[in-house]
Amino acid sequence: MVSLTERCEHVSEVRQVTPRTRGCEECLALGAPWNELRVCLSCGHVGCCEDSGHAHALKHFNATGHPLIASFERGETWGWCYIHRRYFALPPESLPKKRSALAAALARFFKR
Ligand SMILES: [Zn+2]
Ligand SMILES: [Zn+2]
Ligand SMILES: [Zn+2]
Repeated sequence: MVSLTERCEHVSEVRQVTPRTRGCEECLALGAPWNELRVCLSCGHVGCCEDSGHAHALKHFNATGHPLIASFERGETWGWCYIHRRYFALPPESLPKKRSALAAALARFFKR
């Protein structure tokens, strides 16, 4: 188990991304279920984790070479570098923004 404070040089490139979708982009298209979600810290792609049937976050890395992902699960603040195979802690300001329940309710209200 690697220490959470150990760093790879990719971590300095982390910037805040806006998740492109609320669920795994490919699973949504397939109508497939997923387990947990990961967000690409290069482009905001949302993909499912390796415990999910399709592992779209890993496939996204293989296809694009974007090395860093962050957990998209509520309350989790860790990231992972596919190249260094290492976890790192994300500063709160770099965490992908989740839509709050209030924002979702307001969006529904204004759509009417
Ligand atoms: Zn790295
Ligand atoms: Zn998926
Ligand atoms: Zn990406």
